[in-house]
Amino acid sequence: MNIPNTMPVQNPRTGEVDYYITPPTAQEVKDIATRLRANQVAWAAAPLEHRLSVLRKFADVVEKNRDAITKAESLDTGRWRISKEAPDGLAWSIRGWCDRAADILARAHLEGTSTIMPNVTYRTQLKPYPLLGVISPWNFPLMLSVIDAIPALIAGCAALIKPSEVTPRFVAPLMDCIAQVPELAGVLHYVVGGGETGQALIGNVDIVCFTGSVNTGRKVAEACARRFIPVFLELGGKDPVIVTENADIDKAATAVLRGSVFATGQICFSLERVYVQEKIHDKFVDLLVKKSEEIELNYPDVHKGHIGPFIFGKQAAVVDSQLDDAVAHGAKIRTGGKSQNLGGGLYMRPTVVTDVTHDMKLMTDETFGPVMPVMKYKTEAEAVKLANETEFGLSGAVIAGSEDEAMKLGQQIDAGGISLQDTILTTAILRDAEKTSFNFSGLGGSRMGPASILRFLRKKALMTQKGDLTAMKSLTELPAA
Ligand code: NAD
Repeated sequence: MNIPNTMPVQNPRTGEVDYYITPPTAQEVKDIATRLRANQVAWAAAPLEHRLSVLRKFADVVEKNRDAITKAESLDTGRWRISKEAPDGLAWSIRGWCDRAADILARAHLEGTSTIMPNVTYRTQLKPYPLLGVISPWNFPLMLSVIDAIPALIAGCAALIKPSEVTPRFVAPLMDCIAQVPELAGVLHYVVGGGETGQALIGNVDIVCFTGSVNTGRKVAEACARRFIPVFLELGGKDPVIVTENADIDKAATAVLRGSVFATGQICFSLERVYVQEKIHDKFVDLLVKKSEEIELNYPDVHKGHIGPFIFGKQAAVVDSQLDDAVAHGAKIRTGGKSQNLGGGLYMRPTVVTDVTHDMKLMTDETFGPVMPVMKYKTEAEAVKLANETEFGLSGAVIAGSEDEAMKLGQQIDAGGISLQDTILTTAILRDAEKTSFNFSGLGGSRMGPASILRFLRKKALMTQKGDLTAMKSLTELPAA
């Protein structure tokens, strides 16, 4: 069915189109941006405590409405357990940032006397960008739409968010929550739509946070460059893990499996390349296969099992074609295999592939599925070289016999976040440490640690002359230092 001016949304468990969104016109996006921008002035001028109390109220409302949000998100993701955690995760995240905000902002403020001109004092002023635009992907629909917006709201920005057109159902219940906190509704709004709406958003905001693929990221960066507005890009990955000869094989296999198949492998920092020292390779693969075969699909009951369907049907075709390409070039599928249609949804069992090389797309292109291609290495230098032989550099992992051994290898991997003695630990540092991505995996400052708030503030300096201007010998002389 084709309904004019709407976009169809597919249910990933049934394959049916059972939801439609109506993207705003370019003029509507402009009008929304104008309203947010006008309200932002008072939002930024209010004391920090006011903004924090409004956001804490929002956290309470989100928690009360968790069931409606979970239900909507789950219809788009085809998974239940992860979507169930999303609203509580948002409330937790808001409160966490609110607790840290005053300290982060106080530490960023500088004042003192110039070391070059001792008659001059200075103080800094942090001034928020008026309007943040967020463009987010489909793999964690709610969380990735708010991850940058909450710190920006704390900083004093207004925010206009465009989530993926593949997973927009959570927007209606979330907008109901926003409406219940009128002070927030003035400075936070969602629009639904695809690339065109994304471009309209970029045309009306002052700073952009984009999470998505490298190809779209490039278009977003180009559009922002034309407007001379800053953009933060969080893009794809092809994360490696190195398992050394001295590693505990059982623990390593568990960590690799979890890091590869969690959320059906649809995480930017999923493991997608597994390098194992040749002496333990066969034993490791046997164990990985055994553990993989114990994993159950979330089918037919969404509440049971571990792995849901592909959220975006086209992604299943990408993963299937990478497996075909690998097999055609000599790879062996040890367990799992191409996607299967179950009740209209596209599912893939944890898939272990051996005899892979860097000539296969499976080892070079982002996969975004529950696939574990395993490759042997002889020396540590070779393992590091293989890990770094990629155009990505989001994150990675090392599992070794000791923390020191893992640290030594981890320091040589060119990526933003390296998990040692485990995998996919990146979210652990959300509030604490900063990290940036290497190569094509991203651009701009960290979305983690203090930078997550501070990057939304322009830094001004106010300088006061305390010296005697009349003591100057000539009009062109600088005041006495
Ligand atoms: P995508 O690039 O296809 O789409 C992302 C967003 O961009 C969507 O909202 C889409 O509507 C919008 N968009 C599309 N064309 C646009 C245009 N021309 N101008 C402006 N906006 C446009 O990505 P996706 O398929 O939704 O998400 C999967 C990708 O996201 C993967 O590559 C994954 O690695 C990446 N990702 C990265 C991170 C990270 O933190 N680095 C996190 C999650 C996902």
